[in-house]
Amino acid sequence: MILLDGKKTSNDIKDEIAVEVAQLVASGSKKPHLAAILVGKDGASETYVNAKVKACLKVGFNSTLVRLDTNVTQEQLLVEVEKINFNSDIDGLIVQLPLPSHIDEMKVTQAILPTKDVDGFHPTNIGKMVLNLPTYLPATPAGILELLARYKVETSGKNCVVIGRSNIVGSPMSILMARNANPGNCTVTLTHSRTKNLIEITKTADILIVALGKAEFVTANMVKEGVTIIDVGITRVKSNKTKSGWKLLGDVDFKGVKNKCNFITPVPGGVGPMTIAMLLKNTLLSSKSNLY
Ligand code: NAD
Repeated sequence: MILLDGKKTSNDIKDEIAVEVAQLVASGSKKPHLAAILVGKDGASETYVNAKVKACLKVGFNSTLVRLDTNVTQEQLLVEVEKINFNSDIDGLIVQLPLPSHIDEMKVTQAILPTKDVDGFHPTNIGKMVLNLPTYLPATPAGILELLARYKVETSGKNCVVIGRSNIVGSPMSILMARNANPGNCTVTLTHSRTKNLIEITKTADILIVALGKAEFVTANMVKEGVTIIDVGITRVKSNKTKSGWKLLGDVDFKGVKNKCNFITPVPGGVGPMTIAMLLKNTLLSSKSNLY
């Protein structure tokens, strides 16, 4: 079994980005600049946004964090998005999801200029992804592709099963794995909460990508020998063994399945850090204005 080490790989990518930023600045260009909008005080969202700001510092980016109250109106939030859209110093904008229920996430996503949509969630960028045109790929699927590429996991002609059809992970992942590209060229099955006989399907997977948000859902009896497993899930559970009082679990029973795997991502330290690295990569790309 080979561990797909997202922590190490993301650090390698951050080092590569830092070198490029230093070269840009030395040649007289401005530093890439990522802005994040955080609404409310959700613990997990705080953690993710802080990790993104810290990563910006590490690679030499500027970062701006706009904090808004949970009760902010949709109109007020859209005004903040618009301000950043028109701020020519800022290259990338992310609005941390989930948003409070009184705010229409899709409206906010669509308000972000596609040129600054470094999360890759805007319909324009999703459309470009589907057509295999240069774009900002959604950060989590892009991080998974990068891990598969750097560990030289063979994907061409393989059966890839994706569990979960969210707009940010499962659906784009299924499209990317089916594209005529490397990584890609898989025969893809996208499964979801209405899928019948899930185990029969997951057992056919050479590559199993799991993103449903149910801790340790995938067990050894659901996979075949030699499978590659990408575990996207992050569930926080209470723990008296950690200083923080909680720990993170993936969607896969790691201990139970690992001996059947050729490759597997751990949680934490797998897909999560790769997501942040890809966000930085998209921001760097935006600052170089290569895409539009
Ligand atoms: P989501 O919560 O929006 O949707 C879950 C999906 O799982 C749905 O499409 C649903 O149909 C499917 N599903 C639910 N029960 C199922 C079942 N029994 N069998 C098959 N499919 C089932 O999904 P999401 O936003 O993609 O998040 C999934 C998980 O990934 C969460 O734990 C989330 O925290 C994590 N996540 C991690 C990262 C990262 O960077 N590591 C990024 C995004 C999401």
